[in-house]
Amino acid sequence: MKKLTRDNVFYAFSDDLEPALEIEPGEKVRMETHDCFCGQVQTEADTVDTLDWERINPATGPVYIRGALPGDILAVDIEDVQVADQGAMVCIPGEGALGDIITETEIRIFRMERGQALFNDKVRLPVKPMIGVIGVAPKGKPVPNDTPDAHGGNMDCTLIGAGCTVHLPVNTEGALLGMGDMHSVMGDGEILICGLEVQGEVVFSTRVLREAKLPTPFLDTTDLVATVHSAHTADEAADGAIHAMAQFLTEIVGMGVNEAGMIMSLAGELKFCQVVDPLKTVRFELPKSVLSAYGFSMGELR
Ligand code: CA
Ligand code: CA
Repeated sequence: MKKLTRDNVFYAFSDDLEPALEIEPGEKVRMETHDCFCGQVQTEADTVDTLDWERINPATGPVYIRGALPGDILAVDIEDVQVADQGAMVCIPGEGALGDIITETEIRIFRMERGQALFNDKVRLPVKPMIGVIGVAPKGKPVPNDTPDAHGGNMDCTLIGAGCTVHLPVNTEGALLGMGDMHSVMGDGEILICGLEVQGEVVFSTRVLREAKLPTPFLDTTDLVATVHSAHTADEAADGAIHAMAQFLTEIVGMGVNEAGMIMSLAGELKFCQVVDPLKTVRFELPKSVLSAYGFSMGELR
């Protein structure tokens, strides 16, 4: 297995980055990631004022995938995600969905043990590691790591963990894949502007799909598929995710538009990924049992 250490960081997805690693499709990689503070927050005595804001939201990479060409789709199969046993959160006045009522800055450190995060002596929360930032070089200008968009990036989607396949568009030769910003616990919406921020390690491999006209970003987990869309408002993001799923069901699965709309309205779930980043991210989930009833399997995509 190839290994990429967490000192290979970048702060904006771009087609000008020098690859930190080159791999073949199918090759397994163990990639280390920093937490979103690049390890600068270790104790509750650390303060937000002394943070170096140039070193926020690092992603590890980029990884050049041989044979990936513009127009292809990169499928990233996430096999395992491990996180450190300590994480951090911050409250910052003016930041996040409660920034209007938060008046004091606070850093809090949480320990994880036996699969649970110790919130306080009353509350323990199950650890469910997820990758906040995963993306490829965008079309056009560089996109800072704090921003989600068509290239992936800071989608902060709780589905992106072990067992998830993330489909991303290839915009430049080699795709230039990067990941970071892991959370050991996070609720949909990420309302405060952070999850439980941790450093971690991900084991993944990739596939290059040449023919699949899948709307991207597109997620495939054990039980469901999901379209993901980011836009300036949550309304626009929702509209994008809904239309992307309708496109998938009509153009790829082969349903009529009315039937797709009916099944989406009955069995689909529209969910916020995050509402706190420069663009908002919404996903539309559909159970895979619907796809299999129509004789469709994600494995058919090549
Ligand atoms: Ca994030
Ligand atoms: Ca984060």
